[in-house]
Amino acid sequence: MGQNVDAPHLSAGFGEDVFKGAIADKFLKEQGLSAAVLDDPSWVKDVATADKIAKAVLTWCLSKGVTNFCHWFQPMAATFRHGNTGQVQMSMLEFNRDGTTTYELKGKHILFGETDGSSYPNGGMRATHTAGGYLCIDPSSPMFLRDDALFIPACFVSYEGKALDEKTPLHRAHEAMSKQTARLFKHMGFEVAGAVNNIGLEQELFFIPREAYERRMDLQFTGRTVLGKMPARGQEGCDHYMAPINVQGKVMACMKEIQTQCYKLGIPLKTRHREVAPNQYEFAPEFGSVITQTDQNLVVMQICEEVAAKHDLACLLQEKPFAGVNGSGKHNNWSISTLCGAQLLNPGDLTAKSGNPELFPVVMAALVAGVDSYGDLMRLSIASPGNDFRLGAMEAPPSVISTYLGTQMTEYLTEFMNGNVFEYKPSVTPIPLGVDSLPVFNAPAEDRNRTSPFPYGGHRFEFRAVGSTQNVSLVNTVLDSMVAKMFSNISDRIEAGESAVAVAQELLKKHFKAVYNGNGYDPEWPAKADAMGVTRIDSGVEAINKFVDPKNVEMFSSMGVFTPEECAARREILLELYVGTVEMEVGCMIDMINQHAIPSAKAAGINASGLEKGAKECAAAIAKVHATEDAFEQAKLCRVLRLETMVNVRKVVDDVEAACPANLWTMATYKELLFVDTGKHR
Ligand code: ADP
Ligand code: MG
Repeated sequence: MGQNVDAPHLSAGFGEDVFKGAIADKFLKEQGLSAAVLDDPSWVKDVATADKIAKAVLTWCLSKGVTNFCHWFQPMAATFRHGNTGQVQMSMLEFNRDGTTTYELKGKHILFGETDGSSYPNGGMRATHTAGGYLCIDPSSPMFLRDDALFIPACFVSYEGKALDEKTPLHRAHEAMSKQTARLFKHMGFEVAGAVNNIGLEQELFFIPREAYERRMDLQFTGRTVLGKMPARGQEGCDHYMAPINVQGKVMACMKEIQTQCYKLGIPLKTRHREVAPNQYEFAPEFGSVITQTDQNLVVMQICEEVAAKHDLACLLQEKPFAGVNGSGKHNNWSISTLCGAQLLNPGDLTAKSGNPELFPVVMAALVAGVDSYGDLMRLSIASPGNDFRLGAMEAPPSVISTYLGTQMTEYLTEFMNGNVFEYKPSVTPIPLGVDSLPVFNAPAEDRNRTSPFPYGGHRFEFRAVGSTQNVSLVNTVLDSMVAKMFSNISDRIEAGESAVAVAQELLKKHFKAVYNGNGYDPEWPAKADAMGVTRIDSGVEAINKFVDPKNVEMFSSMGVFTPEECAARREILLELYVGTVEMEVGCMIDMINQHAIPSAKAAGINASGLEKGAKECAAAIAKVHATEDAFEQAKLCRVLRLETMVNVRKVVDDVEAACPANLWTMATYKELLFVDTGKHR
C-alpha cells in the first residue's frame, strides 16, 4: 500500500472526471443516495432510482460546464475508426415553448438510446429498411466526461437483441465464465458467488513527426507504410529499447499530457517507456476489470492520437507501420478471480482460500484443454489485418497457438496427470549477484518466455499476440467463453459421477501437446507443431473463417455468447474489414507510385517502366478482387495481393528511391519518419 495522498495537487486529479467513488457520492447524497448505489448494476432496472442518479449526474455535469451527453458504444471491427467507438452527442438543453431553455437529464435519457444500426458493419443483421439499433447503458463501466460532453458506456444491439457491437458478447462471455466457475467450484467444495476476469493491456505505439506523416498518404489513410526504403539505421543496436525519453523533447511532453488526461478519467496508466523500434513507445496501466479496462484502452488510444497532433506528432496504432523494424502489439495480461478474491491462477492463494489443493490443477487442466481445443478461436481473435505482418516476424510468435507453463509447473502437472496428486508449491529461485555488498533476491517461480503467444507469467497468462489497434473485447470474449466451456464440460462429467481430478488428468493427457516451453521463434517450431496437431493457422483470413466451424458455433451458442447467426455475421464483418483494409492500402500504393514515385524517377532521369508496370499489376489484382462475389474468396485474393504482389512492387519502388537524389524524392522517407530523436522534432 502506498502512502495516501490527500493533497489534490499531488494526486494528479485522478478520477475527477469519472462518476464514481467520492466524486459521485457528493452529488448522489443531494438525491438521498450514495456512491454505493452504483456498485450494484440493478439500479438500471429501477426508473425512480435512475431518475435520481440522472439528476445527480446533471448537477455534476453543470458544475463542470458539461452540457452534452451521449451513449458511447463500440461498433464491430472498427480498427481504423478514430477512437474505435461510436456516439451521437445530444445537448442537455431543453428548448421550452416560451423561448426559454433549461438543462435536463432524466433516467430515461441515460438508460437507453436509439440510433441507426445499418450504417455500421453488421454482417447482414441490419439493413436500411430494418435499421433500428438500440443502446443500453452498461452500468459496469463508469460514466465519464471529456471536453463538454458526458459519455455513457453502452451496449449496442438490434431490434431483435442481436449484438451489433464488441461489448455485448464480452458481457455474455464474462457472465458465462462467472456462472461456470461457481458451478465447478461448488462441486469441489468451494462455494463462490461468481468470478471476474481482470486484464492489463500493454499498449505499444509509434510517435512520429506530424509534418512527415502528412507527407505520407499511406500512413494517413491506413496507418502503415506500403512503400519506403530502409534507412542506414534501424534497430541494430537495440539502442531505443528502454532508453531515456528526452525530457526536452516533444514525445515526452506528449506522453506527459496523455498521462494527465488519462488520470482525470481514472485510467491508471502506470508504465511508460521506449520500445524496441525507433520512435516506438509503450503505455501500460494497472490491471483491472475486463470491461472497464477495455473501455479505458479505447479512450487511451483516442487520447494518444489527439494529444499527439497537438504536439506536432502523429500517433500510429497500427500493428506494423514500418517494414524492417518491430511492429506493435497489445499484450493482454489475463487472470480470473472469484468474487471473494481467490485468484484462480495463483496456486497458493486459491488453495488457501478454498481449502482444496485440487482446485488449481483442475483449473490449469481446463486451460490447457481450452488452448488446445479452441486455439483456432484464439488465432481468430487476433486476426486483425495488421497482424498479418507481425505474427512470426521479429517481434511476435508465429501463428501457432500454444502455451508456456515453465519447467516447475510442467513437471508438476505431468506428475499430477500420472496419478501423483499433491499440492503445488512452486519454489522461488534465489539470484546471487556475486557481490557481497548487494543482496541476493528471489526471482519468480518461472523464467519469462517472450516467444510464446500465451505464456503463464505467475498468477496470470499473457496473450502476447494481440494486435495494437485491436479492441480486445473479442480476445477476452474468446478466452472467457473457452474457460466457461471447459469448466462446464468438467461439471457435466462430475454430475455424471466422475471425479474432478480424474477428468482433469484425462484432459491433461489428451491436450498436453499445447504446452510448449521452447523457443517459439525457432524456425523449425511451426512445422513441428503442425506434426503434433497443435493449432497453426498462418493465414488470418483462414482463421476468420473458423467463426463458422461447427465446433466453435456450438461452443459459443451453448455458452450463450453468440447465436449461429451472430457467428456468421461476425465472420462476414471481419472478412469485409480485411478486404476494405487491403483496398485502401493498394489504392494508396497506386496513387503514391503515379503521383510521386514516377514523377520523381522521371525528374531524376531514372527509368520508370518498372514503376508503371507495378502500378498496373496492383490495379489488375484489385480489379480481380472486385470481380469476385464471395467475401471469403475476396479476402483470400486480397491476402495474396497484400503479401505477395504489393511486396514485390514495393521492392521496385524502394530501389528507385535508393537511386533517386534526395531533393527529388517527394514522399517522406523512413529516415524522416522514424527518427524523432535525430531531427528538429526532438
Ligand atoms: P512487462 O514487464 O510484462 O512488460 P508491464 O508492467 O509492462 O509488464 O505490464 C504488465 C501488465 O500486466 C500490467 O498492466 C499489469 O497491471 C498487468 N497484470 C499484472 N498482474 C496481473 C493479473 N494478475 N491479472 C491481469 N493483469 C495483470
Ligand atoms: Mg511492458
